Formats: sequence, structure tokens, C-alpha cells
Amino acid sequence: MSVPINFVREIVEEDLKTAKFSGRVHTRFPPEPNGYLHIGHAKSICLNYGIARDYQGKFNLRFDDTNPSKEEQEYVDSIIEDVRWLGADWQERLFYASDYFAPMYEYAEQLIKKGKAYVCDLTSEQIRQYRGTLTQPGKESPYRSRSLEENLDLFRRMRVGEFPDGSKVLRAKIDMNHPNLNMRDPVLYRILRATHHRTGDKWCIYPMYDWAHGIEDSLEGITHSICTLEFENHRPLYDWFLQELGVYHPRQIEFARLNLSHTVLSKRKLLELVNGRYVDGWDDPRMPTLSGLRRRGYTASAIRGFCETIGVAKFNSIIDLVVLENSLREELNKTAPRAMAVLKPLKILITNYPENQIEELDAVNNPEDASAGTRKVPFSRMLYIEQDDFREHPPAKFFRLAPGQEVRLRYAYFITCREVIKNEKGDIVEVRCTYDPATRGGDAPDRRKVKGTIHWVSAAHAINAPVRLYDNLFNIRNPDDVAEGVDYKVNLNPQSREVIEKACLEPGLKTAAPGSRFQFERLGYFFADPKDSLPGKPVFNRTVTLRDTWAKIERAEKK
Ligand code: ATP
Ligand code: MG
Repeated sequence: MSVPINFVREIVEEDLKTAKFSGRVHTRFPPEPNGYLHIGHAKSICLNYGIARDYQGKFNLRFDDTNPSKEEQEYVDSIIEDVRWLGADWQERLFYASDYFAPMYEYAEQLIKKGKAYVCDLTSEQIRQYRGTLTQPGKESPYRSRSLEENLDLFRRMRVGEFPDGSKVLRAKIDMNHPNLNMRDPVLYRILRATHHRTGDKWCIYPMYDWAHGIEDSLEGITHSICTLEFENHRPLYDWFLQELGVYHPRQIEFARLNLSHTVLSKRKLLELVNGRYVDGWDDPRMPTLSGLRRRGYTASAIRGFCETIGVAKFNSIIDLVVLENSLREELNKTAPRAMAVLKPLKILITNYPENQIEELDAVNNPEDASAGTRKVPFSRMLYIEQDDFREHPPAKFFRLAPGQEVRLRYAYFITCREVIKNEKGDIVEVRCTYDPATRGGDAPDRRKVKGTIHWVSAAHAINAPVRLYDNLFNIRNPDDVAEGVDYKVNLNPQSREVIEKACLEPGLKTAAPGSRFQFERLGYFFADPKDSLPGKPVFNRTVTLRDTWAKIERAEKK
């Protein structure tokens, strides 16, 4: 599979040509373990891993675990599982930023000794005020002129825990008038007594992201440090730190993060949806997380295909969810075996079909793949079809079953509706039809045509199973598009999940393996939920609908 060239790959190729990094390519994916990975992270993983793979380079998985207050082992485990599932291979190079806390500390002392860092006693609020704004210069901290000895002494005492949390920080001494706010004496270390998921209580000072990240990249010999656009104006700082330390210096390149329509891709918001029980957890099939998409039935290859399709650019945009869905449809159309299932059953009695007769009819497993062969499906006098496939008073161009109208039952016979049976409330409870025995297999010897083909299952043979239908998690394209003071959660779609407790499935689906995928004809692609399915008792999630013409007709009818 060849990946189209993009501007990041162009830079890598240029650097290979000029031997900037002696012909090496080494990328990394640096998640902070403060949440589960989402489809945006997949874009970053595919980009970083794809470059390493295609230019005979290396790829590291590195946990950027410098903020103990939000990080947990559960997230580390899930991230490892997700990156592996996507197919990115870090070989033996799994790293943790926390493993570099000691060298990071040493580097900080070096900066102090160079006169390029100082201990500051301003509160975080004061630091913010002193920083100034884009239009106003900053103000120097009164602690900026401390001597090297005093700074070194205070910093060492910060480390051993002599000062309370938040009472002091270590800052770089750069330029309080710098046009780039990130260069106005940024904080390198803060005091925080929090137990780290890996280093425990060994440290009570923790490095800030900008300080830590460049050192991590440098220590690992990363050549191209690829990150999202928000870090573009952090690059001068990234470069400043590495230059001042005089260490190996990777090249930072920024690209546009993925935004996907009808969902949110911020870990903070996803965490809020989980904690507030708006969804059933990080792997709820409606979530844009990799674990959610996996549970919905997405394949890793469809997600990789999606990441290639959308490309890599320098400007932010919102990609339509349909692009992701189409990537999966295209794949499953080729690979998913077909089956018949009726979600909302309507009883059909074929009055001229012999009582007690059962036929085993041949059904094609996959019209896109002849090698998938055929299977037998039982046919009998009493069937179920979808309620939607029958109308007592059909609108124009309704080609499915209606009084007096003939349709084809997929792989079976032509039937004609003769009578509608209602209960005392007036609800339709059964439709009586006749069949034409000469049309076995679905074709009439006299070549007469029917305009509609519908799916069915034999009532006596059908198995019942729960089927869950999903819709977009949010009602609008950009859920963050809200008036000031309004919460994005007002845009949650209250109908994002519909559970059908007893769908009627063709009997062969009884043994569907958890984690297997099917196309239920005319209904979409379905996935046997690996968590909720039991042997002989599958539970299905609809992964994605088919794009079918019925949907259009139905919509037109509703208008
Ligand atoms: P937060 O939402 O908390 O700011 P984050 O999504 O940036 O966090 P990280 O764990 O820092 O989370 O991300 C790991 C890597 O994935 C980073 O290199 C980041 O640039 C990249 N990344 C995160 N979100 C996206 C996205 N939507 N599209 C592309 N890359 C992303
Ligand atoms: Mg981040």
C-alpha cells in the first residue's frame, strides 16, 4: 500500500537527501496517558509510523507522563492495546518520559549554571499577570536577578521537598518582551506532591510539557518531531532549550489535527462524557475513541485507510464522518458475509404454501466474492419481514409489499399480498400472501419483473438477538459551535442509540463468533459485540448503515 506524498514526507525526503540526520529517520508517538486514544490520535500514529516504515526508520511509543495528577495506568494499558491494534510497531522501543526525570533535572541545573534559569517565588496568578499580552510587553519578575548559587541552592531544596506545593517554580530566563508569549520566561518545573503512576513519591517537582518534550525527543534520537499546529508557536522554545543545552536537536514539524464532524475529539470532553455517564464508558460504540470504534465494529485497516484518504495538511478543517464510514463500507462490502435479519418483524403467512413444508434455499454469501460460496436458509409458510417493507396505503413509487402488489423475497419466491389482518386496535398483525412456486430462487420463468426485493426470515427458524443501532453522538456537524456560555453537551443526540431487544435473525447467526462482522442485507454492517455476546447468544452492534435507496424514499415520504 503506497501512501500519497504529503508535506511532512517531503521534508523527510529532503532531509534524507541532504543527510541532515545522517540518513536516519526516527519518529515517535507521544501520548499523555490521561485518557483513551481517539481517531485523531490514529491520524498521528499513522503519520508517524507510516513515515518510519516507508523510509526504513524507527518509531517509538513514548508516554508523555509528566503530569501525575491526571495520569493513570489504565490509560497506559489502553493506549498500548490501541496502538498495537492499529498495527503500528514500536518493536522494543516503549518509553516513558518519567524515565528521564533524572536527566531532565540535571539539564535544568545546567541551565541554572549558565544563568539561563532562575527560581521564582511569584504565584501562578502573578506570573500570568507579569507575562503581559500580545499587545503589551511582560514585566520582569523581582526574583529574576537571583545569583547562580542562590538559584542552584533553591532548586535543589525544591527537589528535596523543603517548600510547599506551588510556592516556587523554576523558570527559563529568556525575554519578557519577546513577541512570542511562550518565550517570556516560561516555567520549567513546579512543586507538586502527587503520586506518579510510575515513579511513586520519588519526585515532588515535575517538569512542564515544553521543557520535557524536547529533551525526550533529543534523548531518544528522534529526527522528526511531528506534532499538531497548536505547537507551532512553541517551536522557538523547543529550539531554544535544545540550543542552550547544546544537545542533539530534532526537527519539529506541525500538521493540522483531525477534527471529525458530529463528535468531539478532546480528551477533556470525552472524559466528561464518560464520567457524566452520557455514554457507557470509553469504549461505548458511539465514542470516537479507538476502543469505541473497535467495539462498534470498525477494523484497523479501515481506520488506516481513512487516515490516508484525508491526508496531512497545514490548515485546520472538519472532516465529515461520512468519509470515515465510507472507508469501512468499502472494506466490508468486499469482506463481510451477508445474512438476513429482520429488526422490526411483521408476520407474513403464505396461504398457498404447504403446511409443515420446509425448504432449504441457497443464499449467496458475498456477491463481491465468489469464493465465499453459498449457504442454506430455511423457508416456510410463516415468515417475518420488516414492518417498513409493507404499506397498506403505499405512496407512489413504493415498490415493496402492498395490497395486490407482488415482490421478490430474496433468494426465495415472488409473493403477492392478498389480505391484511388487524387486531381490535386496528394495528396490522399479519399480512397474508400467496407465492408463485414457479419463481423458486427469485426469478420468474415468464420473465415477469417485480420492482422490489425484500429480505425475510422463517418465523419458526429465526433466532432472537439484541441488536443495537447507533446514530451520531451529536446532532450537529460541529458540537462546539455554541453561543457563549452554552455547553457543547446541549448538542448531544438523545437518539444516538436504539436497542432492539429481539431482532429476528436467520438461524446460522446463532453461532456468530464474537467479533465477527456481517452485512445484514439492506440494513447495514453489523458486528457481534465481543464483550456482550455469549456462545450461542450473539449481541449485534450496527457498525454502519448501507447507503440504500429505501432510505431516500422513506425520507421523501416523511416530508
Ligand atoms: P488534549 O486533548 O488533552 O490536549 P492531546 O489530544 O493533544 O491532548 P496527547 O496525548 O498529547 O493528547 O496526544 C498525543 C499525540 O497525538 C500528540 O502528538 C498530538 O499532537 C496528537 N494528536 C492529538 N489529537 C490529535 C488530533 N485530533 N489529530 C491529530 N493528532 C492529534
Ligand atoms: Mg497534548
